[in-house]
Amino acid sequence: MVVGDASLDIDTLVIGAGPGGYVAAIRAAQLGQSVLVVDKSNVGGVCLNVGCIPSKALISASHQVEQIEHASAFGVTAENVKVDWSKVQDFKNGVVKKLTGGVASLLKANKVQYFNGEVMFINENEARVFNEQEAPRYRFKNCIIATGSRPIELKPFPFGGRILSSTEALSLPEIPKSLVVIGGGYIGVELGQMYSKFGTQVTIIEGADAIMPGFDKDMSNIVAKKLKAKNVNIVTGAQAKSASQNDKEVTVTYTVGDKEETVNADYLLVTVGRRPNTDGELGLDLINVKMTDRGLVEVDNQGRTNIPHIYAIGDIVPGPALAHKAMYEGRVAAEAISGLTSIVDYKCMPAVAFSDPECASVGYSETEAKEKGYKVKAGKFPFAANGRALSLNGTEGFVKLVSDAETGLVLGAQIVGIEASNMIAEIGLGIEMGATLEDIALTIHAHPTLGEIVLDAAEVALGHPIHTFVK
Ligand code: FAD
Repeated sequence: MVVGDASLDIDTLVIGAGPGGYVAAIRAAQLGQSVLVVDKSNVGGVCLNVGCIPSKALISASHQVEQIEHASAFGVTAENVKVDWSKVQDFKNGVVKKLTGGVASLLKANKVQYFNGEVMFINENEARVFNEQEAPRYRFKNCIIATGSRPIELKPFPFGGRILSSTEALSLPEIPKSLVVIGGGYIGVELGQMYSKFGTQVTIIEGADAIMPGFDKDMSNIVAKKLKAKNVNIVTGAQAKSASQNDKEVTVTYTVGDKEETVNADYLLVTVGRRPNTDGELGLDLINVKMTDRGLVEVDNQGRTNIPHIYAIGDIVPGPALAHKAMYEGRVAAEAISGLTSIVDYKCMPAVAFSDPECASVGYSETEAKEKGYKVKAGKFPFAANGRALSLNGTEGFVKLVSDAETGLVLGAQIVGIEASNMIAEIGLGIEMGATLEDIALTIHAHPTLGEIVLDAAEVALGHPIHTFVK
């Protein structure tokens, strides 16, 4: 390793080129700063390389299999449907390559310098960036830390061999015959359900009394029903205890109440949450960045840490570990550094699970709104009564709108159903713009579309729905 002496000067150092880091770097450059972004792995971070994007590519491929299998409902039958797993992997890798290449081009076009290597703070104003070839030292005026997170590894289930984190589960050499998933959060459900559609016998072991604890039970129950229809064994209220593996299979022991059970499978996938990358060589302790007990960086509403010119964003700060949250915080931090008055406001932060059917929420649930002291008026409308949903043969689920009974202001929405991930955006915009139920009901929604379900749910809440009868 060659260590240079003089420090190079830049305005802003961004550590990590995931969705938080690359967005922050581009926004800071747009606002006139000289920016260096450093990543020890690949541009795009977890999201583009081993998270959101590859998982959705595989999920889409698995939907294709299911759609072909269920095409008989449309009067279409297909025989000898075959899955070429290596081509599925090629498709996924191709999508990742296009997107990471696109981000690299955007960095370049915005004159953001990129260094593929690791960062180590020397002091509050200087950092060494290094790889096997070089190790220049940079003096920065501002820094945005966006080092993301990694899968939590539980002691009884060390990753390796047949015990997988989400990263390895995205690139298995073959479709497993059987898979045990510990953790029924959205990542475990998405990946478990994806494999079940490719024919894997899946068991999900979840400690809580329902899967996908981040969503209302009337939503997750619909997903659970669909999983069971694919013979997925969902074990709730269960504690995974240990695992042993050989070259053929892994055996997992778990308890439900006093009863001990075992299950064998080709692989065990452990998805029990993510740990922030705030430890290790980076040296946050050296410069005394203030952190919570859970290793998350404490920040104000602009993303500023206790060191005024050092900011932190994304999975390493409190809040849900989601890519769009990281991007949003990246924009705010870059603008704050550039002297703008931007601050974060999480009121309209959506959450989406690409389960089947999809689950999406934004703003308050009915329970949360009541806890906040609102008198709630809610309206729920089923996909089954919508023309487009019927024509797509996607009739499971509902849209629920939550509003303030006194003002009619929309406070939140929960959607479970086909395309929920895309439908939630309308309601997020509505909340952001201060829309009332009347505003949504008076907005002309094209026919026949799934978007009409949102209009219908608003009319239900207002008490005058056209497409359902209320006494
Ligand atoms: P990351 O994306 O983790 O990027 C951090 C980067 O920092 C990494 O590239 C890393 O190499 C680099 N780095 C770390 N330390 C250093 C260092 N010392 N020096 C240099 N570089 C360093 N979110 C959604 O919103 N929707 C989804 O559908 C979704 N699906 C997911 C599916 C899976 C399987 C997984 C695992 C995650 C998913 N997520 C999803 C979560 C999402 O990927 C993360 O919330 C998001 O990537 C966080 O962005 P980030 O910029 O904070 O960090």
